[in-house]
Amino acid sequence: MSHDLSEMYRDIILDHYRTPRGKKDVDSADISNDGKNPSCGDEISLKMKLDGDIVEEVGVNCAGCAISVASGSMLSEIVEGKTVTEVKEIAASVKSMLTGESDLPEGDYGDLDVLEGVKNFPVRIKCALLAWATLVDGIDNWEKGEGAGSGTYTEL
Ligand code: ZN
Repeated sequence: MSHDLSEMYRDIILDHYRTPRGKKDVDSADISNDGKNPSCGDEISLKMKLDGDIVEEVGVNCAGCAISVASGSMLSEIVEGKTVTEVKEIAASVKSMLTGESDLPEGDYGDLDVLEGVKNFPVRIKCALLAWATLVDGIDNWEKGEGAGSGTYTEL
């Protein structure tokens, strides 16, 4: 049974990899941040348009391995309509799941639970974290008043 389960998970990850959900440009983005995972070569460009502190639109363009692209795609599916504070809480929960600290709490995490197995592959954790680290870094910059066009995140 666990074999079938992992195959199903793999199929979901590959589906996101082949058809990334949030792959689009966002006009006049309030938050714009690029991220890199040097250990794998994954690169991501993330843009968000806000309405107040609510994420109105997110665009995720990721070039890299299946895990990094799938994680960015899943991110784009769940952050729209949420406040930046909620988004940061989700990111923290995802990080705890990926590092094996704790399971995802109750809530709307889309397909993200399929990435839980990544915790067993330390090299892949950074791949799955890239989109989330870039997102949180971008929000942090925005909260500091450094919004669109700000920095590149490489500290993975
Ligand atoms: Zn990777």
